[in-house]
Amino acid sequence: MRLVVDLNRCQGYAQCVFLAPDVFSLNGEEALRYTPYVDDARREQVAAAMAACPVQAILMDDVVDDMMDDPLPAAFDVHH
Ligand code: SF4
Repeated sequence: MRLVVDLNRCQGYAQCVFLAPDVFSLNGEEALRYTPYVDDARREQVAAAMAACPVQAILMDDVVDDMMDDPLPAAFDVHH
């Protein structure tokens, strides 16, 4: 599955690192690193990390696919 972390939103709380250490790691104080393609076997870990993230910065699967397919989501498509 695919995974994206909105690093503008991420505050480096590291909840995800505790819950899914194979997927997320912190490099220094605030630089989060993560694996963008994760084995489905780790889905539960990632789901737990998503749920624990205080700022909902972790996105996976469908949301990410939509972002890739449609670079201008309807919500941002302003018609005048
Ligand atoms: S839990 Fe959320 S805010 Fe904290 S490091 Fe992970 S992605 Fe960033």
